[in-house]
Amino acid sequence: MQLSKMPRKTRRRSRKYQKKSPEVLKTARSHIDRYFKLAREVASENHGLANRYVTLARKVAMKFKIRLTSPQKRLFCPHCYRFLLPGKNLRVRVHEHRVIYYCLDCKKFWRKPVGKK
Ligand SMILES: [Zn+2]
Repeated sequence: MQLSKMPRKTRRRSRKYQKKSPEVLKTARSHIDRYFKLAREVASENHGLANRYVTLARKVAMKFKIRLTSPQKRLFCPHCYRFLLPGKNLRVRVHEHRVIYYCLDCKKFWRKPVGKK
């Protein structure tokens, strides 16, 4: 008797992960908020700690599948995820109706269009 060759029962379509309750998501969001706030506060004195807070905030967001808001996304580099401090590790230039951000840590840049008149 070959049990292994028997057709397997079709797998029920179920969620691979448990959907989180709204309260949990709310708590997670407030944690993310706090991490970014802390990062902003310590950034000028302790840049390494600010980077750490960004990492933690991103980790929480990924775990709970929370999208970061656009002001939150503007706080760190989209390439190396370091906290951005204009004048310290971020260069901002305007060129041909675009704002060009240049990260001095990973030497990468990204552009953002601004309203053309
Ligand atoms: Zn970078």
